[in-house]
Amino acid sequence: MGLQFYNTLTQRLEPFSPLNGKTVRMYTCGPTVYHYVHIGNFRTFSFQDILRRTLLARGFQLEHVMNITDVEDKIIRNAVAQGKSLQEYTSEYTKAFLDDSALLRLERPERMVLATEHINEMVEAIQRLAAKSHTYESEGSIYFRIASFKDYGKLSHMNLSGNVAGARVDVDEYEKDDARDFVLWKAQKPGEPAWETPLGTGRPGWHIECSVMAMKYLGETIDIHTGGVDLVFPHHENEIAQSEALTGKPFARYWLHAEHLMVEGQKMSKSLGNFYTLRDLLGKGYAPESIRYLLTTTPYRKQLNFTLDGLKAAAASIERLRNFQYRLDNENFGEGLSEPLEARQEAASKKFNEGLDDDLNTAEAAAAVFEYIREANSAMDSGQFLAGNRPGAARLLASFDAIFDVLRPTASEGGMSDSEIEAAIAERQQARKSKQFAKADQIRNDLLAKGVILEDTREGVRWKRKQS
Ligand code: AMP
Ligand code: ZN
Repeated sequence: MGLQFYNTLTQRLEPFSPLNGKTVRMYTCGPTVYHYVHIGNFRTFSFQDILRRTLLARGFQLEHVMNITDVEDKIIRNAVAQGKSLQEYTSEYTKAFLDDSALLRLERPERMVLATEHINEMVEAIQRLAAKSHTYESEGSIYFRIASFKDYGKLSHMNLSGNVAGARVDVDEYEKDDARDFVLWKAQKPGEPAWETPLGTGRPGWHIECSVMAMKYLGETIDIHTGGVDLVFPHHENEIAQSEALTGKPFARYWLHAEHLMVEGQKMSKSLGNFYTLRDLLGKGYAPESIRYLLTTTPYRKQLNFTLDGLKAAAASIERLRNFQYRLDNENFGEGLSEPLEARQEAASKKFNEGLDDDLNTAEAAAAVFEYIREANSAMDSGQFLAGNRPGAARLLASFDAIFDVLRPTASEGGMSDSEIEAAIAERQQARKSKQFAKADQIRNDLLAKGVILEDTREGVRWKRKQS
């Protein structure tokens, strides 16, 4: 079957292949850094991480650009209110975004770019659009005239014909000719930060930022453009209008959009106030990898309802994976190879890859691995899992973790490293041998206090980290 994605532009599943060889040129709309990013935003960024890792696992190379929107109405309002420069205000939230992304193990795009460092290129793009008669000026601001771009609406598939000129009341009453025309350049309002440019003193609109930075670093036609579904209209529709009006070429070949993270039937959003930041959840004792697991194991085109119970279930799933890895690494198995079990492993591996290939169906992919783990665990219990099955099982677990990346525990503050834990366990075993049971119990309790649970089994002592 091969890798295929649902393309918002064509509304179909399409086999994926990049325009040039094995390099995928991808653009992602990054965050607006006026506040801490919430985990709804991180659902979209986590989907992009799964996309990245799947492309890499299929042998592609990536040229992935993500922007940081560091000039925008809310940013300006907050910065002015706090008497800070834009840069002073946004740098704190940009850093927080990068830190949170790292905690969630989101691979860094090859290039992260700031809107405010591309003002000249934006001015130039607007001048070129003006030269091609796609713009008009009103009260010092410059607008894109969507009636000048015949394909407007092709991404969002909205029937826009009904409300063009006829729906207008009296254009003189409005600053825009058509209510849907969007701003390319905003004239400075009193007290606002602004750039002095050949277009006048002002700042760029949000949409032009992405068109300019995507094309600057990735070329006029890029392979994949991603974002959350709320960006389809108007943001991505406007990006297409600007870019294609400039170049006459298709702007992006595959448009992939992540569905929302919901809370009790509503989109998680800053304006509704129903959001958690990563910091909020870490403060409640949840591990970053539980949050990552929850956000990524529901396929990206399905809405996902956020609950704390969901996070607990995610932690339990991770624990199952880690315990299996522990058994695999530490138990002694009989000589030989169980052929049926090996066949099960190969079937699971195939299903895992087919799940990801099918428009990143992470639920199918993960289910295949868990099914195998269940069977392998009972084969271990009954002595049917043999030493020869170990490498195949380890490979399956490694290919799972190359995408989901949850096996490694995040070192918590004051937490213990694996070797410190092993050393404490050895000391406890020594104490038990010499019948110092109080000391042995003390070591066990100390470990528990640090979040490490010991289990005495026939094969020896097993340990695991407690998941919150
Ligand atoms: P913003 O900083 O508002 O531009 O949002 C950054 C990214 O997060 C965009 O791709 C949005 O579409 C996405 N986003 C915002 N809210 C949610 C949500 N509740 N669930 C999933 N993605 C979201
Ligand atoms: Zn964008």
